[in-house]
Amino acid sequence: MSLESMEDLLVHELKDLYSAEKQILKALPKMAKKASHPDLKQAFQKHIDQTENQVQRIETIFESLNGKPRGVKCVGMEGLIEEGREMMEESMPDYLLDAALIGAAQRVEHYEIAAYGTARSFAEKLGLDEAVRLLQETLDEESETDELLTSIAQRVNSQAKAEA
Ligand code: FE
Ligand code: FE
Repeated sequence: MSLESMEDLLVHELKDLYSAEKQILKALPKMAKKASHPDLKQAFQKHIDQTENQVQRIETIFESLNGKPRGVKCVGMEGLIEEGREMMEESMPDYLLDAALIGAAQRVEHYEIAAYGTARSFAEKLGLDEAVRLLQETLDEESETDELLTSIAQRVNSQAKAEA
């Protein structure tokens, strides 16, 4: 693949994000199943719905660019999910597994926040107002999810202290 313009680079970033979202969409139900704390389970369920919308937004942007979001595999997300999967296979009490799941999920959110921030900046530079709006919506959801996970972590960890 040869990239010659900022638009080419934006397209590449969006294809990478599309692959990332598709991968996490497959992993999230497994994470929800493994989670014990009801708040964490609910947060993962909610993020499945949000992620489906995020996939849609990328498809909408590609329609406006007359392209398809295929052909790039997000190896970064693959690695993050693999690390999370390895962690889920370890034997540990439920509250520790919840804490581990939150750690894995926040790695994913931070990765997405960085990638969407980059893509939005490229779209801004190119004057693609509708793409900017859609990417900002997703970026806000990812940030809110990250903050929600932080607040659940505090609840999970204080429960852990009580059980220790
Ligand atoms: Fe996402
Ligand atoms: Fe996310």
